[in-house]
Amino acid sequence: MEYEVVIGLEVHVQIKTQSKMFCACPNRFGSEPNTLVCPVCMGYPGVLPTPNKTAIMRTVAAGLLTGCDIAEFSKFDRKSYFYPDMPKNYQISQYDLPFCEHGSIHINGKGFSGESLPDKTIGITRIHLEEDVAKLSHFARCSGVDYNRAGVPLMEIVSEPDMRSPDEAYAYLTKLKQILEYAGISDCDMEKAQLRCDVNVSLRPKGEQKLGVKIEIKNLNSFRAVHRSLVYEIQRQSRELTADVKLKQETRGWNDDQGETYLMRSKEFAHDYRYFPDPDLMPIVLTKEEIATIRTTLPELPAAKRQRFVQDYGLTNYDAEVLTQERDIAEFFDQAATAGGSPKLLANWISSELLRELSTASISIRECRINPQQLSELIKLIENGTISGKIAKDVFSEMFTSGNDAATVVREKGLEQVSDTSAVMAFVEQAIAANQPQVEQYRAGNAKVLQFFVGQVMKLSRGKANPQMVVELLRNALDNN
Ligand code: ADP
Ligand code: MG
Ligand code: ZN
Repeated sequence: MEYEVVIGLEVHVQIKTQSKMFCACPNRFGSEPNTLVCPVCMGYPGVLPTPNKTAIMRTVAAGLLTGCDIAEFSKFDRKSYFYPDMPKNYQISQYDLPFCEHGSIHINGKGFSGESLPDKTIGITRIHLEEDVAKLSHFARCSGVDYNRAGVPLMEIVSEPDMRSPDEAYAYLTKLKQILEYAGISDCDMEKAQLRCDVNVSLRPKGEQKLGVKIEIKNLNSFRAVHRSLVYEIQRQSRELTADVKLKQETRGWNDDQGETYLMRSKEFAHDYRYFPDPDLMPIVLTKEEIATIRTTLPELPAAKRQRFVQDYGLTNYDAEVLTQERDIAEFFDQAATAGGSPKLLANWISSELLRELSTASISIRECRINPQQLSELIKLIENGTISGKIAKDVFSEMFTSGNDAATVVREKGLEQVSDTSAVMAFVEQAIAANQPQVEQYRAGNAKVLQFFVGQVMKLSRGKANPQMVVELLRNALDNN
């Protein structure tokens, strides 16, 4: 029997804010355990939560960027459960009235191994806002609880069961992460657990409309783990189904070392969370005007940027694609191109020299000492013939380390291109005089020798002679003597 794979994802994303969701504790990663806590996030009796407005606005922004309907009326609910990661014994979450519903994400990206996937739209069921829970660490003889993370604003983005392969799940996650990073909603640093993922997967006979029995794999912390666990789970389920084993709905974990999923709990032990509206929190009312205001803060997304770069700056699709992968890089290019200089040259310099230097220095473009205006000035120096493209690379390296302007580097190092005819001619004559055998070869009809002479002249001028002028003068001198 041939089976169709059905996948739906639940993605948890910590929202970038100064403070936690319902108290004034800092929302910060990496502090000493239990130093970023207060009576509210420790769940002491009698305290009152105060919702974080920025977190709400960023959740709405995420909804707008994924084409969701935004609720003008929503509320927070208590999700009751008993576990040490939640001191109140309930988590404040949203049940039936989340902020965002009925959105979608367009995937047109690449799968896990880089192969291009066809365009497809994945539905977003809902995005709701909740608070993160404490982090548990298990040691040899005891466990530790760090409440610094308890109460950090957390968005849950639930997809429709629209994905049909592990690669589509990978492309969906990549796109979602890119959108959230672009909009500054979250840094999505998976090593800091800022983005975590539960995947739901089932199989059904090809052509069947009814969904199959779903298995949920909990708490995957890398896209690679998502892809691998799905591949594994699809094989396992298909083996079971082929052997006529009836699958039961269950929750499984992923052992990354073993490369296997394992049973955590089956449906019979499903929680009853006894959701009910949190009596300490007023429902949240957002007016159309407030939602419209949030809309004005949304960034231009990669697809729109790419199109604009092609239209306004005449870039190729490929260049535009490379430059728009990261928002900071796209903005660097945009500012440089606005400052002037050939956009094509700027694009080349950013995607080759600049990105290479950044990766060698392992710094981000934000930490780069060259600003967009300075790169634009460098490009203008190449275009107006002050320096050659080759010399420009040395100038660029120097700018990268010192942060100096191109003009300053050129002046201080005496790197101006020599475009003065008599000066270049002097180098040409010198090269000809020193290489008589090659002159004979040239005159005997070996035109390739011209390149040799160009090399000689460039060497004599220490790379500064204007290359076009060198070729012209050399031809003249060799042909007419
Ligand atoms: P639960 O109530 O168990 O959380 P939901 O219906 O809320 O289940 O769905 C959770 C996630 O699982 C969603 O992303 C949804 O798209 C996905 N999902 C639901 N049913 C299936 C299925 N049969 N196969 C694969 N994914 C599914
Ligand atoms: Mg669920
Ligand atoms: Zn607190």
